[in-house]
Amino acid sequence: MLQNMFAHKRTLSFEVFPPKKDGDFESAFQVMDELGKLSPDFISVTYGAGGSRAGKTVEIASYIQNTLGIDAVAHVTCVGSSRESLLGVAESLKEQNVRYALALRGDRPKDMTDEQFASRDFEHASDMMEFLGGSTDLIMAGACYPEKHYESFSMEADLNHLKKKQEAGAKFLISQMFFDNDYYYSFLEKAQKKGIDIPICAGIMPITSARQLGTTITLSGSSIPKALSDLIAAYGDNKDDMRKAGIDYAIRQIRDLQENGVNDIHIYAMNKPKATGEITAAIYR
Ligand code: FAD
Repeated sequence: MLQNMFAHKRTLSFEVFPPKKDGDFESAFQVMDELGKLSPDFISVTYGAGGSRAGKTVEIASYIQNTLGIDAVAHVTCVGSSRESLLGVAESLKEQNVRYALALRGDRPKDMTDEQFASRDFEHASDMMEFLGGSTDLIMAGACYPEKHYESFSMEADLNHLKKKQEAGAKFLISQMFFDNDYYYSFLEKAQKKGIDIPICAGIMPITSARQLGTTITLSGSSIPKALSDLIAAYGDNKDDMRKAGIDYAIRQIRDLQENGVNDIHIYAMNKPKATGEITAAIYR
């Protein structure tokens, strides 16, 4: 099964999010239809912060898997999920024929107290992976951080924890977004030295507006290279030019990755099929 997902010499995958409101499923399905036409190898579906809206993740993942016939990867977080609720989500995924889960710890949502955050059944993503690996048939993936996770003391410590994900059964990894490929090359080299040898998908986020960049940095902690900040300075005030320049930046980033032997690309599609389509049309698969 995993072999199918990574069967192509070059893998392309997308990340999408479920609709925020119940009534928005029809338009979300249309977005999935458009993204599906781009023939990704898989599409991953985010999980609401703190485990909220898990049912929506399952519903979108099910549509991708069963209606579009594309492998869906459902994100699942330990934060806000008990053992029982996780087993419930796993059962729903199984009923819907969804075999893959991206197992994450999650962050503390704004409305969650420190106590609630600390009282979760699983401390780290790898703990949840071990549990799900032992009690379900899910094939699991994990997250990785080319610029290290923001809580980690050092890259070395973060990589040791990443190795634990592989040992806990992660079959592939999806990276946090990055805008400077040099961080990614350096991360790959260090991960390889640690013995991390499962496929790693490089996370690329097209920045199509200046505002989006602000939110993105806050959420991801990724650094912004001068080339990208120059681009915002030059085009940030013009919506169309900024969109074009942001897409072009993502294309150049992916081409450079491909020229340097990185073959698994994960686009943070943000439910934007047009921008995602323009990028995929421009990159060699
Ligand atoms: P962990 O692997 O638990 O790591 C968290 C921190 O603990 C790191 O600093 C790590 O080094 C450290 N650590 C790990 N294991 C150990 C250990 N055994 N002992 C000591 N320290 C350890 N969030 C959502 O809420 N919903 C989503 O859908 C979502 N999707 C994401 C998709 C991707 C590709 C990525 C990169 C992130 C996503 N996130 C999502 C955000 C994610 O939940 C946060 O980044 C979170 O802070 C860490 O999650 P993790 O799974 O990497 O945690």
